[in-house]
Amino acid sequence: MATTQAHSVAVRGVRRVGMRFPSTRQRLEWAVRFASDDWGALPPEARASYRVELAAILGAPAKRRRVRLLTDAEMQETHNRLAAWVGQLVDKGEHGKASLGRLHAEYRLEWNRERGTYALGFDFEFPRHPAQRAALRLALLMGHARHPLKSCGAPKAGGKPGERCGRWFVGRPNRYYCSLTCASRVTTRRARLRGRK
Ligand SMILES: [Zn+2]
Repeated sequence: MATTQAHSVAVRGVRRVGMRFPSTRQRLEWAVRFASDDWGALPPEARASYRVELAAILGAPAKRRRVRLLTDAEMQETHNRLAAWVGQLVDKGEHGKASLGRLHAEYRLEWNRERGTYALGFDFEFPRHPAQRAALRLALLMGHARHPLKSCGAPKAGGKPGERCGRWFVGRPNRYYCSLTCASRVTTRRARLRGRK
């Protein structure tokens, strides 16, 4: 299938990638993984899966049978924007801060039952441009992280000595590496070093 030409995909296709109803956690992890990848270096198949998965992550409208996929250029722009924002949070711990630019908001007064008075309410108006919109919606998923984002400190697979994996991931207690693959590489190397002594 010439995925680069397909501008819409059947919802069935989204379901096939196993992400019809991703959990919040999965969506957050997906966004961080997507941001961490080097978009320009990805093989076409990986980019194609990301395009379909993004549709699932941002939620296919329930009634429509087809969802529009972002174009290659839009995907790249979405990626670059998100990576720039997420990159400002990685390894900064509780000091991570990323400016998402100016959002247009509509303010109104509405009765607040708890407070028993009129209170300020607002609705954000998301950018119309598909890439800006997608990047912003993905960035807002960071609001579900319960620990600061980190970069993987495991030695890079097939890398030079001292080179690190560097992939970004959502931190949590006792999670030091981006993946099980990286964690087991560290264990193997440690065991090998111990064996040499
Ligand atoms: Zn890693």
